[in-house]
Amino acid sequence: MPTAATTTDRLRRLADAARDAGIDVVLVAPGPDLAYLVGHSVPSHERLTLLAVPVSAPHEAVMILPALERGGWEGSPAEVAGVRFVTWLDGEDPYAVLLSALDAGATAAGAAIGTVAVDDHLPYLHAFRLQQARPELRMRPAGELMSELRMRKQPAEVDELASVGAAIDRVHRRIGEWLRAGRTENEVAADIAAALVEEGHRTADFVIVASGPNGASPHHEAADRVIRAGDPVVVDIGGPNPAGYNSDSTRTYLVAGGEPDPEFARVHELVRTAQRAAVDAVRPGATAESIDRAAREVIEQAGYGEYFITRTGHGIGLEVHEHPYIVAGNTRQLEPGMAFSIEPGIYLPGRFGVRIEDIVVVGDDGARLMNTSPIGLLVV
Ligand code: ZN
Ligand code: ZN
Ligand code: ZN
Repeated sequence: MPTAATTTDRLRRLADAARDAGIDVVLVAPGPDLAYLVGHSVPSHERLTLLAVPVSAPHEAVMILPALERGGWEGSPAEVAGVRFVTWLDGEDPYAVLLSALDAGATAAGAAIGTVAVDDHLPYLHAFRLQQARPELRMRPAGELMSELRMRKQPAEVDELASVGAAIDRVHRRIGEWLRAGRTENEVAADIAAALVEEGHRTADFVIVASGPNGASPHHEAADRVIRAGDPVVVDIGGPNPAGYNSDSTRTYLVAGGEPDPEFARVHELVRTAQRAAVDAVRPGATAESIDRAAREVIEQAGYGEYFITRTGHGIGLEVHEHPYIVAGNTRQLEPGMAFSIEPGIYLPGRFGVRIEDIVVVGDDGARLMNTSPIGLLVV
């Protein structure tokens, strides 16, 4: 959880980046960006709530929120860091309240508000009303500024990813308690969801149990299909820990007994080799797309290229999917602290799928794995 000092530091770094981009104020909506900056967020709703960060004086950031929400911020890092809370009542015009707070701050600093950067998570209606309230205001998307800040994890964030990674590893190690022939995917998924919470997640965000032919669809969740002996089963699970950092790990299991597809063992071995090739390619300076290529080359050379139908990975942190994306065309160079999944797969329509997924953090000379549960052929 960010402390007041973290909040102060992050607001300052945001302001520095925004200043270079010609922005006067950054408007941050409820959601992961707000949680990142001030360690707390609230659900977004029709009542305007946002943090306004003046670039000239980030320590004078103002939180605009409905009066009824004020109590939830009592003692928060934002409050301790000196963020000013400006509340509005039902019946008042929150956009006027926001603009007058911004104008007052700008006037005090001898400036004016010309260009604001608006968080990607702000509902369009709020941006629209704000623009109506002041037509000359120039608005820019703030997404890139925010992702630049969030992409390189600080040591405390890496610790969170490691601890939530260990939590999801414990769930995978227990899979034999729930996954067996005769049960439906939904039954198995419900047990896994409970175990996610038992092992330290705040909630189970997603539980994919894709057995037999269902495994050939990368985002199949769980259905009432009865799992059979000899089925390959893709289990892709994750969720946030209490601090909001997410786990995301996939293992492909084989249900004992029965006759597995004759190609399964070979395909599983191939995905495992591709996954490790990508992990081994991670180092500062390597491009994101080169990590995708490392996995894809192994699978293409074995003749399965057309069945690897997804990108290799996605960034992870306060969101399950965030920057950087490990995909062809992303020439961004990796830097220490970047965190992302490596999850190649082979999906054979009508038959089965295999995916193996770990989270890695870029270290000074290679990948640091956040997941360490076994990736060999796991028979349950
Ligand atoms: Zn996904
Ligand atoms: Zn996953
Ligand atoms: Zn993933």
